[in-house]
Amino acid sequence: MGESLKKLQGKVAIITGGASGIGQETVRHFINNAARAVVIADVQDEKGQELAQSIGLDRCVYMHCDVSDEDQIKTVVETTVKTYGQLDVMFCNAGILKHEQAILDFDMSQYEKLFFINVRGAAASVKHAARAMVEGKVKGSIICTGSMAATMGTPLHTDYTMSKHAVLGLMRSASKQLGEYGIRVNSVSPAAVATPLLCGIFGMEAEEVERTLESSYYLKGVLKAKHVAEAVVFLASDESEFITGHNLAVDGGAKM
Ligand code: NAD
Repeated sequence: MGESLKKLQGKVAIITGGASGIGQETVRHFINNAARAVVIADVQDEKGQELAQSIGLDRCVYMHCDVSDEDQIKTVVETTVKTYGQLDVMFCNAGILKHEQAILDFDMSQYEKLFFINVRGAAASVKHAARAMVEGKVKGSIICTGSMAATMGTPLHTDYTMSKHAVLGLMRSASKQLGEYGIRVNSVSPAAVATPLLCGIFGMEAEEVERTLESSYYLKGVLKAKHVAEAVVFLASDESEFITGHNLAVDGGAKM
């Protein structure tokens, strides 16, 4: 393994939403960058277990964790610290986007369900990761998944857009409060990536989604989950040791 692939050497990480899409790609990138252990925290048990097994259970494990339930996050963090001795990196990435929510037809129960996962889940993940890092005197890195929709409005997905704006507020506030402990908090904000989440919204296979997206960036090509994972590795690694409170757009120079 070359030097460039040892950016996370010895680090212990939790990735929420790690069974699929951006999270799954990030699990592999963390392992390829010499992370000591990666815990996949998700609700898709079969996919998560398969991924952990394909990597090797000595370095990657799956734990069922619904991020909307604070106790489950607390348990995953505590189990991780108990098993591996510390927590260095928390990637708060679990999120959903299932329904259109135009303001004229805004459905409050859908909004609450989405906020429970995208916002409350992220807040609880940051909280318990930060507590473990403070207690363990670990100068850790916490990364949240924002979105292009965290900094601009969208025509159809009002509640999702609200939730991602809230994630940025969480990241920025937590970064100010945790700096004194040496804990960094940042976010990545991808443009559209053809993951199962987006394929569900488009009602298309990944290849078709990518063809649709091809001309939407100033850079040539298509944004892939690996581009986001590479940005997360950077924010998780010591290469970004003096960066906190930053929202890193990963969007190929999206045309808006
Ligand atoms: P995905 O559906 O492939 O992955 C999301 C993962 O989160 C899934 O494995 C799912 O099981 C998990 N999850 C959902 N609810 C959960 C819960 N309550 N507890 C624990 N895990 C839960 O989608 P993705 O595109 O990889 O999404 C990852 C993140 O990226 C999300 O926060 C999403 O909002 C964000 N994002 C995606 C895009 C995109 O275009 N795909 C763009 C910007 C931001």
